[in-house]
Amino acid sequence: MGSIRLHPEHGVNPSLDLCFWCGKERGVALLGYNKGKEAPRSVVTSYAPCDGCKGQMAQGITIMEAGAASRYPNVPEIQAGVVPTGRWVVMREEALEKVFSPDMVDTLKRSRKAFVEAGPMFEQFLPDDQQGEISA
Ligand SMILES: [Zn+2]
Repeated sequence: MGSIRLHPEHGVNPSLDLCFWCGKERGVALLGYNKGKEAPRSVVTSYAPCDGCKGQMAQGITIMEAGAASRYPNVPEIQAGVVPTGRWVVMREEALEKVFSPDMVDTLKRSRKAFVEAGPMFEQFLPDDQQGEISA
């Protein structure tokens, strides 16, 4: 493990570490030198869900929106060519047949998650009152 290089003014330079999936705090990230700048007030350090999100995701199949815009700036690809927007829903297994073909249902039951193209393609999974908005 490397040592942290302290910032001359901001010391360990702490930021709140946010869960990418719900935006809630889950700890503190110590950014140290951070290219000479004060650390941002909050950062997202990984795509790993917090315990709350993990619990919700475990209840079904997680459908995640992926596209050009994310709720956070400078978000890296989660896998090749896929940038999650931060919006997601969990579908019960029983509901999959209404939306997906039988082949796809089998695949989803094995993978437990899927990325869906941002916009109308994803919004069909949302309740009517949540369509069209990206919450921050
Ligand atoms: Zn979370």
